[in-house]
Amino acid sequence: MTEARTYDVVIVGGGAIGSSTAFFLASESGFRGTVAVVERDPTYRTASSALSASGIRQQYSTAVNVQIGRFGIDFLRNVGVHLAVNGEAPDIGLSERGYLFLGGPESESVMRDIHALQLAHGARVELLDPDALTRRFPWIDAAGIGIGSLGISGEGWFDGYALLQAFRRKARSLGVDFIHGTVVGLERSGNRLTAARLADGTRLRCGHVVNAAGPRARSVAEMAGLRLPVEARCRSVFVFDCRQELEACPLVIDTSGVWFRPEGRQFITGLSPPEERDPETFDLEVDHAQFENDIWPALAARVPAFASVKVVGSWAGLYEYNTLDQNGIVGPHPELPNLLFANGFSGHGLQQSPAVGHGIAEWIAHGAWRTIDFTPLSVERIVANRPYSERNIV
Ligand SMILES: Cc1cc2nc3c(=O)[nH]c(=O)nc-3n(C[C@H](O)[C@H](O)[C@H](O)COP(=O)(O)OP(=O)(O)OC[C@H]3O[C@@H](n4cnc5c(N)ncnc54)[C@H](O)[C@@H]3O)c2cc1C
Repeated sequence: MTEARTYDVVIVGGGAIGSSTAFFLASESGFRGTVAVVERDPTYRTASSALSASGIRQQYSTAVNVQIGRFGIDFLRNVGVHLAVNGEAPDIGLSERGYLFLGGPESESVMRDIHALQLAHGARVELLDPDALTRRFPWIDAAGIGIGSLGISGEGWFDGYALLQAFRRKARSLGVDFIHGTVVGLERSGNRLTAARLADGTRLRCGHVVNAAGPRARSVAEMAGLRLPVEARCRSVFVFDCRQELEACPLVIDTSGVWFRPEGRQFITGLSPPEERDPETFDLEVDHAQFENDIWPALAARVPAFASVKVVGSWAGLYEYNTLDQNGIVGPHPELPNLLFANGFSGHGLQQSPAVGHGIAEWIAHGAWRTIDFTPLSVERIVANRPYSERNIV
């Protein structure tokens, strides 16, 4: 005999996106319903939110992503107020040391255009020519650089796992049910979803379903008979020691695509592989050859002090990679309006989790975007096969 319970909202996946959505729903004054988050692995051992580099930036080339970034940093700065439980404030270790994008001379005009858009949307970003760059960061070799773009406020990194746990704890304290289980089926009647089925036979009748299944989002869409262009793609992160201190080192994105940033007294680094070496996979295997062949040569060329670094650790995590345009997919499905997607963030979902959770909660409560207009990231563009691309993806 299957057990049946009823919730106004069932969220599939309790990572940063699902837990943020649950928190914002539970604290949304226009919403009085019940919320369940179904999570297949509450240890989050393989969840992207636990294996992230957890950076946050304002430097995007589309207005909606700049707005999402601004919402995110404001939320993170005040996380102790938003997510305290019984007077206990979470510590997410926010470090606002900026992102530094480096571009070759050929990138200069694009970066100037993007810069103007960022300023127009309130981001604090400064362009640096090679001289200004090496004056500010004397440890950089500026060979081949035409321009640098430095975020001077509102960018940096934090403890993503701590943010996820803080969302979860606060949502529970506000009455959200977190259910340990795996959603294996969605029941549909006409253009509505009516229930979610779990592997243990539990049936959850529901008013809305939110797909927050991260790298497994496509399989949840398929349960409703829908297509979602989201694949699991593996990314390796390497931890290394460097004897020399790099003063005021931000998160640097080199012209080669290699990124690095300080992590305590060490550094972490990574690189998205080229498309032909980036298959869909759920295996969390570190690509050690990538460090030797691709990352280390670029690091040593850009920062002479990195010529003699020592790798002391590594891990692998999954991007929930949107193969259409590597941008988030946020909002209701036109064919099934009570199924909402919050997927496909392709490397920037942790920093976007506050704004996205808030936006989805607003949509469920009011049937409209109120604070940030997520229309550019709509499911409609996916259905119409109309990419909405960033020009500086990492
Ligand atoms: C190496 C790496 C570096 C990154 N760097 C950054 C960065 O610097 N900044 C940034 O903003 N983002 C970064 N990201 C991306 C970011 O981590 C993700 O976009 C974000 O964590 C996605 O959150 P999520 O909640 O959607 O997914 P997840 O954290 O993966 O959560 C999804 C959850 O859904 C559960 N689930 C799946 N299917 C089911 C089901 N059928 N039933 C029940 N539960 C289910 C899973 O168990 C999982 O816990 C990085 C990611 C990686 C891998």
